[in-house]
Amino acid sequence: MQVASVDELVADLYHNLEDAALTACELNLRNLGTMVEMWAVDHNGRYPAALSEMKPKYFSAVPTCPAAGGDSYSRGYSVFINPNAFVIFCAGHHHPQLQANFPRYDSKNGLQRD
Ligand SMILES: [Zn+2]
Repeated sequence: MQVASVDELVADLYHNLEDAALTACELNLRNLGTMVEMWAVDHNGRYPAALSEMKPKYFSAVPTCPAAGGDSYSRGYSVFINPNAFVIFCAGHHHPQLQANFPRYDSKNGLQRD
């Protein structure tokens, strides 16, 4: 029987924590994307200029990414006109499995990892 070393167990633990943080971040982005769409329904199809405009009706505080340890979404949010669109991403390089400023969610393609 092969016994894993402490180093291997610690490496596995870190990878599991990184995967859990990425999953939580992606869930935050999906929820934010849904809330931005709901906000637009209430505002004649216009997207909010900033996530802070959605407080307090849609959320009391912008969610936080566990890997970033804070709000990485407000500065990762952009809105476009003609065509009407938005993008939200986890701003910075908080997820070692992905390149910087990912994951992201955009109004056209939904959730993206690259
Ligand atoms: Zn994140």
